[in-house]
Amino acid sequence: MITQNNIHSIYIHIPFCKNICSYCDFCKFYYHQDSVSRYLKALSLEIHKNYKNEVVDTIYIGGGTPSSLSILELNELFAMLDSISVSSKLEFTVECNIQDLTEEKLILFLKHRVNRLSIGIQSFDTNILSFLDRNISLDQILANLTLAKKYFSNINIDLIYAVPGQTLEVLEKELKTFLSLQIPHISTYSLMIEPHTKLGIQKIMPISEELDGKMYELIHTTLTKHGYQHYEISNYALPGYESKHNLTYWKNEKYYGFGLGASGYIGNIRYTNTKNFNQYLSGNFISETENMNPILIASNQAILGLRTIYGVSKKKWKEISDSNFVEYFSVSDLVDEHILIETEDSYFINPKYWYVLNEILVKFV
Ligand code: SF4
Repeated sequence: MITQNNIHSIYIHIPFCKNICSYCDFCKFYYHQDSVSRYLKALSLEIHKNYKNEVVDTIYIGGGTPSSLSILELNELFAMLDSISVSSKLEFTVECNIQDLTEEKLILFLKHRVNRLSIGIQSFDTNILSFLDRNISLDQILANLTLAKKYFSNINIDLIYAVPGQTLEVLEKELKTFLSLQIPHISTYSLMIEPHTKLGIQKIMPISEELDGKMYELIHTTLTKHGYQHYEISNYALPGYESKHNLTYWKNEKYYGFGLGASGYIGNIRYTNTKNFNQYLSGNFISETENMNPILIASNQAILGLRTIYGVSKKKWKEISDSNFVEYFSVSDLVDEHILIETEDSYFINPKYWYVLNEILVKFV
């Protein structure tokens, strides 16, 4: 039994998709009405068993594709979430696939306190959409985005770059389209070709590291020039539109994770739920737990915080350890090379080196 402590965020996983994308490595299944019905019952059980009436600041329904659920199923999902106590600064995000957006669903989201949409677009280029097995036209994307903007102002879109065949000119055009839409948040991901995805099985080769780097640079330069703050390695926001929910993760704070394959952090334990559908339905939710000892807590604080422009605050570090941050991790070389910057309040990685962030963060493991 895991006991709760200081929890202000809840993640809920809906693992169903109507279409499987060629690159997808997430925990998901084809949408099937009967499976959804059984899943929602198990999810309700898990939430009621564990949620202890904390007042939360963020709720995030991710997937899979939560928006693939029918109106009836969404009503059932929201009915179990309506009893969650929320603060006045609630950020309630639902991940949506652009294909699924209808006026009826958007109005239903609003009725149930949702105030942020995270929309999987992935590309504004017809050839790339088809390569990624995203069955939607550019016109439909633009029409559905206009519809979403009619009801929501706080919107994120996901964009994938470094797609084989994509050129810098194509990416530039996609960024222009994004900027013309005046959407306040964008998450950009370099395409990873995982072995058991369709692209992996077809042995599609990734683009060169050099071109990947140039694309990263182009995204950074274009978006920051237009007022977007590059506040986390993959995320850009206009002022005030940073994702509060994701900042929970990056600040190494506690949260509930409910649903198939979801992970959470409660008390001193990080846990991951089973990815086995039948096991989840039978009520055996958690498959792995990890006790967070002081060394792991310190390492997580550094690795997660240093992904962001805010870095690791000295105040927070003091709560974790009496030692000096730089000495603790033996990273004075990073300070000497101006890769790790120390200010009066925090430590952060010089954004100039974010492109090789993963190599830098190895030093904090
Ligand atoms: S919609 Fe998202 S979760 Fe579903 S297959 Fe595509 S990438 Fe994967």
